[in-house]
This record gives sequence, C-alpha cells and structure tokens, in this order.
Amino acid sequence: MIDDIPLSRPEITQDELALVDLVLRSDRLAAGPMVEEFEALIARRTGRRHAVAVSSGTAGLHLALLACGIGPGDEVVTTPFSFIASSNCILYTGATPVFVDIDPVSLNMDPARVESAITPRTRAILAVEVFGNPAHLDACRALAAKHEIPLIEDACEGLGGAWRGRAIGSFGRVAVFGFYPNKQITTGEGGMIVTDDDAIADACRSMRNQGRALEPAAAPGAARLGMSFRHDRLGFNYRMSDVNAALGVGQMRRLDGILEARDLAAREYMRLLMDTSDIILPTVDGDTRMSWFVFVVRLADEYTEEERDRIIEGLRRHDIGAAAYFPCIHLQPFYRARFGFEPGSFPIAERTALRTIALPFFTRISRREIDLVSQTLKLMIGRENIKRS
Ligand SMILES: *Cc1c(COP(=O)(O)O)cnc(C)c1O
Repeated sequence: MIDDIPLSRPEITQDELALVDLVLRSDRLAAGPMVEEFEALIARRTGRRHAVAVSSGTAGLHLALLACGIGPGDEVVTTPFSFIASSNCILYTGATPVFVDIDPVSLNMDPARVESAITPRTRAILAVEVFGNPAHLDACRALAAKHEIPLIEDACEGLGGAWRGRAIGSFGRVAVFGFYPNKQITTGEGGMIVTDDDAIADACRSMRNQGRALEPAAAPGAARLGMSFRHDRLGFNYRMSDVNAALGVGQMRRLDGILEARDLAAREYMRLLMDTSDIILPTVDGDTRMSWFVFVVRLADEYTEEERDRIIEGLRRHDIGAAAYFPCIHLQPFYRARFGFEPGSFPIAERTALRTIALPFFTRISRREIDLVSQTLKLMIGRENIKRS
C-alpha cells in the first residue's frame, strides 16, 4: 500500500514547534518580538530596508497598492495567468486591472505587451513571478522607470529566487511575499511587504493596524507596531500574530535548505520526464535562480483540455494530487460578468492554462514519490494516446 502523494504538504520541524510553544507560553500572542524578528529576517534576505508583516499575501498586496496611491479611475497593468489574488487586490482599491498576454516560455507577462498597454491612466505595473520565475522583472522595472510609475512585485510565489544574483522582492518599489501552507515557507496564513521607501513602509505599518499613528522608531529602520490610539487614515486589521510569525522565523532560519531540497526535487522530475515529447517542462534561463513554488508541466499543443482533465483525474484515481494551475483570471465567472471578457482575449495565456498540470511538489517529497508520479503521469498520457488513435 503506497501512501497518498498530496499536491502540497507543509513541513513543520521540532524547532518550529518549540518556537510556537514559546509564544503560546508568553503573554504576547498578537504582534510582538517574533513578528519583529521575522520582519528582520525577510528584510535581510531580500536586501531591503523595510519588511512589514501582514495577515496574508493578499492583504499585503492590498496595502502595497494603497501605499503607492492606487485608487478609483487608475489602471494597473498585470497578468491574467496567475492566482486570482494578484488581480483582486487591484479591484479592492477601485482601480482597474489591465491584462496583457504572457510569454509562452517563462509564462510571465510579456514586457513588450506591457509597454503597449500603458496609457495616461496607468498608475502601476503589477508583475507576478509566476511559479517562482523572475525572468521578466528587469524588463518590467525598466518600463516602470521609463513611464515613471511604480513596479509592484507580487512575489508571493518567489521567496528565495533571484535574477542575475538580484533577489526576487528587490526589483519593485514594493514587493509582497505570501506564506500560505503551499508556499516555499509558511506561517499558516501570512504575508510580508518589503520596500526601501520609508513612506510606503510607514503607510503599510499604519494601515495594517487600523490606520494608527506610529510612535517614533527606537532606531532607524526598527519595526514599529503602532500602539497609540490616534488614527491618521483609514486602516484595516491586517496584522500578523506572533504565533504565526514564530513559524516564519523557524522556516527562514533554514530557508537555504528548503530551497535546495525543492531544487533537487524539480531536477529529479526534469530528469524523469525529459524523454517524453508529450510533456513541456518548465524552462529556466541561465540568468535565473528559480525558487521552485510548484512543479507545473504542460502537455504538448495537440492535447485538448478534456484530455488534460482526464489525465489529472487519472492521477487522482491513483491517489496522486494533481491540479490545473492556473485557470486564467479574466475567464473566471466574476471577471467575465464584470468586464465582459470572452475566450480568445489572451490566447497565449488561455492555450497555456488549458494544458497545465501541477504535480505533487513539496520540500520533503521523496525520490520514490517523484518516480511514482512521473511513471503514472506517463501511463495516463499513454492511455490518452491510445484512445485518440
Ligand atoms: C499565494 C499567492 C498570493 C497570496 O495568497 P494569500 O493566500 O493571500 O497569502 C498572491 N498572489 C499569488 C500569485 C499567489 O500565488
């Protein structure tokens, strides 16, 4: 009997349990010293002046956009091939997402199309490092600078990755990480905003805490939690608790080990699947240090969506977690109803989305599990080929 192989599985060590235990036995369950330490660890890792912990990646993106002054009537250029949060956060501010089609190799939005989508109403470029791939960031940064608008990184899938040695999260005026349990590191729920801009950091710190005024920092750059009862602006409760932050601290301390294990797992999948022309493997260019968030393969062009769905069903019948990542945002029922998008609007993203298969991928996945998943995937693809002929 072989255990189920889930799509994703968080890994919590004894050290992390001990850190959480420490917090639970303290009298600081909400924001406290663990939040400050977690912020310091992320700021150091990404080489940024400020890190502001929040309750989720989505909350972080919402605050990042508000802090950049995005509001009603504004346009933000972004990708339709992403998790829906990267576009929903634009709608929260009253601004409009302007989608552009993607590059068929990196699966990130295509910088050439970004440039043609910029209008006088464009107030930001929101770039997503899809599946952890930073390939387009430098081009987006140059475009943002040329048009004097901020680049905002939705880096929720990219912690630990780099492009030409430069960390994901250090390209945008502001960047946001996410720590949902399927990410490279998890806090259960959580997010982190990073920036070098003092005003953006202060606005985010205040807005995560009901718009409270911040007390003067003890030292330049020191975390400030906003304990006064003066409220300068409309804010939210987007705080992270010390319980969640304890997990983040423990996981950040072993981030390199996590990244390395995930890199080995991705390489093993590549080795086992590269002999099959029916499968298109992820492409990583020489400038990129991937931070593997998920392992997503694509079926070759001749495969239909129905065939892809049957292959995913077949994997699941064998107790192997698999999923279609991502359905295009513009074709989600809510976006179609609100904006009138039809299939055909962004053909490359759509063609990609209907042939993707996310395979089980997590830090502790074993070679045996990877081998079993790869064999079963090939078997399911073979079955579809027989049906077709
Ligand atoms: C995970 C993720 C987020 C944030 O998700 P939360 O669940 O709010 O932490 C945002 N954007 C992308 C692209 C993501 O993958």
